[in-house]
Amino acid sequence: ISDSLKRIKPSPTIAVTQKARELRAAGKDVISLGAGEPDFDTPDNIKEAAIKAIKDGETKYTAVDGTSDLKKAIVDKFKRENNLDYSVEQISAGTGGKQIIFNAILATVNPGDEVIIPAPYWVSYPDIVLLAGGTPKIVKCSERNNFKITPDELKKNITKKTKWIIINSPSNPTGSGYTRKELEALGEVLKKNKNVFILSDDIYEHITYDDFKFFTIAQIKELKDRTLTMNGVSKSYAMTGWRIGYGAGPKDIIKAMAKLQSQSTTNPSSISQAAAVEALNGTQDFIKTRAKSFKERRDFVVKYLNSINGLSCLKPNGAFYVFPNCKKLLGTKLKTDKEFVEKLLEEALVAVVQGSAFGLDGYFRISYATSMDNLKKALERIKSFCESLS
Ligand code: PLP
Repeated sequence: ISDSLKRIKPSPTIAVTQKARELRAAGKDVISLGAGEPDFDTPDNIKEAAIKAIKDGETKYTAVDGTSDLKKAIVDKFKRENNLDYSVEQISAGTGGKQIIFNAILATVNPGDEVIIPAPYWVSYPDIVLLAGGTPKIVKCSERNNFKITPDELKKNITKKTKWIIINSPSNPTGSGYTRKELEALGEVLKKNKNVFILSDDIYEHITYDDFKFFTIAQIKELKDRTLTMNGVSKSYAMTGWRIGYGAGPKDIIKAMAKLQSQSTTNPSSISQAAAVEALNGTQDFIKTRAKSFKERRDFVVKYLNSINGLSCLKPNGAFYVFPNCKKLLGTKLKTDKEFVEKLLEEALVAVVQGSAFGLDGYFRISYATSMDNLKKALERIKSFCESLS
């Protein structure tokens, strides 16, 4: 096993989902709140586009980083939804947003380069940086600021070696979203530090609540040339298994990413690309209905968690996660959030992920992308479990 692989660990969120699957296979009535995927099905118009692609013989290799139809659909999406102008040479499609991030980091990071990652973070960012030989510069963000990095914190952590900062809004695992004003304030710091590139992970763009208005940092014109915006169809269109993600940004980075992809996966699945074209160009009506259903679940989960002694939970702006604080329940019986979630799974048969897996101790992540019935049952179990600790 190579030294570079020894630097990384398997994804803890995938590990929890796998453990829950095994327990269920062994006959245990486990409720999994660990998975990061919508419980809805892929809409029919998208499935039909994929079936048509198969029947029409779209079953061969495609251009490395996306068919011209898909790239054009992505260009149109950025114009329509974000008022951003890109040419097709500035677009890259890959096997999931994860491959886009992977390509971007591997194509640009040299040993010793630093990547600023605000914590709590999506679990894959630091490991991808480590694999590339870079140094993740983890900045722990306070619950008081809704787990978001402040301009001061950003400024203090930029060095000559900083290559990227990764911004994820709305965030996995907290659901917190950066407002336009907050991004502009971070933008002021970034404008002065021209060596820093910005990787904006917008995968939860369409799952937002209340009056939160999605804004992406590439909309700040002075920063657009240094920003790689990553997005994908997994979450917005319930297409996690189809594996299509995309990025838009500087031509030289996009070209380098294609070179890397040409020597790894060649191209994302031709059928999935045809499905993604329909996702982006077809009706967007269901997005709002689904976000409404997520919002009802969010409201229920946040209220319930805050009624449990020893837990407290902020109300997120988006995504389908909450990140409750369980510090008051840690002490002699259970020392860490990891022990807390392990016991919760063993004794109460509820699978969640410890905050430390996301870089912030004393919390855990719940994914509420599951039915209300499941959520009710799971929260009753979490409540009895927490009561048993005090
Ligand atoms: N970014 C974030 C914050 C995520 O939560 C995920 C998936 O969980 C991804 C990127 C990657 O998604 P995919 O590879 O399915 O497009």
